[in-house]
Amino acid sequence: MKILIVEDEKILRDSLVEGLRLKGYAVDIAADGEDADDKAFCENYDLIILDLNLPKMDGFTVLENFREENLDVPVLILSARDGIDDKVKGLDLGANDYLTKPFHFAELEARVRSLLRRKTVIENTVLSSGALCFDTVTRAVTVAGNPVSLTMKETALLEYLLLHKGRVIKLEELIEHVWDINADTFSNSVRVHMSSLRRKLKAQVGYDPVTNIIGEGYVIREEPKA
Ligand code: CA
Repeated sequence: MKILIVEDEKILRDSLVEGLRLKGYAVDIAADGEDADDKAFCENYDLIILDLNLPKMDGFTVLENFREENLDVPVLILSARDGIDDKVKGLDLGANDYLTKPFHFAELEARVRSLLRRKTVIENTVLSSGALCFDTVTRAVTVAGNPVSLTMKETALLEYLLLHKGRVIKLEELIEHVWDINADTFSNSVRVHMSSLRRKLKAQVGYDPVTNIIGEGYVIREEPKA
């Protein structure tokens, strides 16, 4: 899941980046409204966290542009403006949620999870495929109740496959949603993480639950291949 953080206060921005990366998200940043506008239309974000008081272009204008251009990415406004008028305006302009500063990171993260679930129309906090379960709150992976130890990247790959269960996911799409702008996105590196994930899952599940369809992409399946 890839998130764009639009925030001009460096200290807050850095702490958001660090906190969300530790939770396994791919995170890009924009320090002003114009940069946010550029990145949002170039990259494929799963969620945008948007400050309102920004240099160059304020957050309301940024949001207005998104919606006018039919960019339907979920937007969470994170602002020191706590007046009801600003909240109403933000939501009317098409924000999906509004959180005022100061805030607790745990609450921000819960709202991020909720918005990402809504985006994929999955209400349950636990994603599963056969005996394989992924808890989106604790980010723990289990097979028939037994914990599986995965790296953050492996977990992020698995999460994306589970969220799109039944659909073949192209390698490019995985890169777009699981790696951030600055990451080494050579497809080989993705393949390395993917094969390590498959090896670990296979050891627990008893068969490889991820199928690679040559030339098309990856899909997760509940049953062993016939
Ligand atoms: Ca600001």
